[in-house]
Amino acid sequence: MEQKRLIYMDHAATTYTKPEVVETMMPFFTEQFGNASSVYTFGRKSKAAVETAREQVAKAIGAKSDEIYFVNGGSEADNWAIKGIAWAHRDKGNHIITTKIEHHAVLHVCEYLENNGFEVTYLSVDENGLIDLDELKRAITDKTILITIMFANNEIGTIQPIAEIGKIARERGIIFHTDAVQAVGNVAIDVEKMNIDLLSLAGHKFYGPKGIGALYIRKGIKIENLIHGGGQERRRRAGTENLPGIVGLGKAIEMATENLEEHNEKIRKMRDRLLNGIMEKIPYTKLNGHPEKRLPGNINVSFKFIEGESLLLMLDQLGICASTGSACSSGSLDPSHVLLAIGLPHEIAHGSLRLSLGDLTTEEDIDYVLEVLPKIVQRLREMSPLYEDFIKKGEN
Ligand SMILES: *Cc1c(COP(=O)(O)O)cnc(C)c1O
Repeated sequence: MEQKRLIYMDHAATTYTKPEVVETMMPFFTEQFGNASSVYTFGRKSKAAVETAREQVAKAIGAKSDEIYFVNGGSEADNWAIKGIAWAHRDKGNHIITTKIEHHAVLHVCEYLENNGFEVTYLSVDENGLIDLDELKRAITDKTILITIMFANNEIGTIQPIAEIGKIARERGIIFHTDAVQAVGNVAIDVEKMNIDLLSLAGHKFYGPKGIGALYIRKGIKIENLIHGGGQERRRRAGTENLPGIVGLGKAIEMATENLEEHNEKIRKMRDRLLNGIMEKIPYTKLNGHPEKRLPGNINVSFKFIEGESLLLMLDQLGICASTGSACSSGSLDPSHVLLAIGLPHEIAHGSLRLSLGDLTTEEDIDYVLEVLPKIVQRLREMSPLYEDFIKKGEN
């Protein structure tokens, strides 16, 4: 039997680690394993590697290296940023502003804080997933201590006007955090120009290893420490450094930001060919997210009359890895909060499919998906009583 080819179209969930990144990491598992906090030369070499990575991360986002703190990933960075600011500034106020479309690593932290005396405003978004800057301005009160708004959405790919948000926050003297986990490696970021005070990133979303990320904290910002213990990460996040991970994160972010435009252009072209093909070949399909202000590799579409979950299973049988905003995949009954926030009715949200392209995507992958996806959608529709009704009505 022919070996089934893997068509990986879920780069927004995680990426593979680039061979060059793995190669850079390898010595730090074996020869150069010294504890970065030890005083002897062997340990100091590890320390130097950590500091080089810190500089690489800082450079990629326009920060200074002593503003970068290594953590284990995006969720940890988001948790630290939001809880750390909330608890450190509660004497000033108890109000936080965020959006309805944040990742759960932000939303669930906000809910936790609501249960602990804080008040949270969840900004709505328009049908493209963009916030309204005037609504943001109106939401600010004397008690507002933090604005946390994601850079780019992981489901629908919409990119927020981050510089404008940063300007508003700065003018009002409010701390601004952004979850940039999806943006790093896809969008040019400058924390100075964009007035960002805290920024979360995770290595495994831009061809680095899993289990390593960073939180940028602007110098002078008061924040609670995350892990109490040893003196690592300027005493703010204790624990022996994940040396290979940190080295890999540095290499990956450097590679991801070096050829950003060139890389994006290539991915965007393939994405547009796939998207145009889907819209052409599959009737009753809606694009979710902003048509232009979106991540270069992101496609999110809703197919009327079908279940995203069944679609995923059929794609999987053909070796295609994708994602849906449908209910079962997230283990709850409601479809994705993001799709509901952009105003999709439940039944449309249930028929959604996210294809996220990246470095593993080839033109052959696009051809293949364009060949099989219309057939699968058609087959699923033929099994749907709703579709049957719809067709009958159309014929009357
Ligand atoms: C993946 C992701 C996270 C979580 O990152 P982990 O490294 O898995 O903890 C947070 N926010 C966004 C937008 C993401 O895409």
